[in-house]
Amino acid sequence: MIKKLNCFWRFLSALLFLSVCVTAVAQSTKAEKTENAASQDEKIKVLLVDGQNNHGVWPKTSEMMRNYLLETKMFSVNIARTAPKGTDENFSPNFSDYDVVLSNYNGADWPETTQKNFEKFIEDGGGLVVVHAADNAFPEWHAYNLMIGVGGWGNRNAQSGPYLYFDDSNKLVRNDAEGQGGSHGPQHEFMMTCRAPEHPIMKGIPQAWLHAQDELYDRLRGPAQNIHVLATAYSDKEKNGTGRNEPMVMVIEHGNGRVFHTTLGHEVYSQECVGFITLLQRGTEWAATGKVTLPVPKDFPSKAKTSSRKFAVEDGK
Ligand code: ZN
Repeated sequence: MIKKLNCFWRFLSALLFLSVCVTAVAQSTKAEKTENAASQDEKIKVLLVDGQNNHGVWPKTSEMMRNYLLETKMFSVNIARTAPKGTDENFSPNFSDYDVVLSNYNGADWPETTQKNFEKFIEDGGGLVVVHAADNAFPEWHAYNLMIGVGGWGNRNAQSGPYLYFDDSNKLVRNDAEGQGGSHGPQHEFMMTCRAPEHPIMKGIPQAWLHAQDELYDRLRGPAQNIHVLATAYSDKEKNGTGRNEPMVMVIEHGNGRVFHTTLGHEVYSQECVGFITLLQRGTEWAATGKVTLPVPKDFPSKAKTSSRKFAVEDGK
């Protein structure tokens, strides 16, 4: 009898132990799932658009920018890619699934419905990040030109809107003179000047810093409405420039949407600049949320010296 009872208790305690284990495992799996779901939900959703660009390096720069955003742990990034040539009638991303669109696109017009959907997305409060040649795109698309503020090439001229720059006395000028929109001299390292130290994107960034080798876009022109120039660079006449302080970093309000626009980022080495990386990360956060919490890193370039991080990813892209 005692033996039987012992056996019963052993069986019962084994059963109890097993049920505790099963519950614990189930709970921990559930907790993990909830945690993952929460952290995914909390991330800022970025849609990177590309597929056509007069810069052959675009697949690599897209990969670089995707990685720069991912490394902050703040963003999730999906890519929407057009066909390599012409208007891609199937290009119709669901913009409203995202907080912010990052454009590395400079190519044929998007289908009209896609353009309308994109306009609605920004007007309703979506964010947009425009990098380098993305401001060459869509010269005829009026709403897009309102979003980017100023752009270049694509037969942009006085009808596109004024030239926008700071003159020698550091006054912001809108100049309606005739002439083409967009040009640049030979690539070089150049000094960046902060024009809005109190703006969330610029807070903590030095008053001046040396940017890595890049094209210095000048003579950009466009509607230039609701625009705030955050940083400029002097376009030296000795480098075929304008002798003006040209906008390099700017923000634009369009409807309820926020746009971060940088003309920097021509090549891999340009985008390896810590100044470029920092502005891209902070500008994307701002375009999505209106705030900036990402810090300015210790290796940010100084006035005396550029600072770059060699881009390398494990899959060798
Ligand atoms: Zn370029």
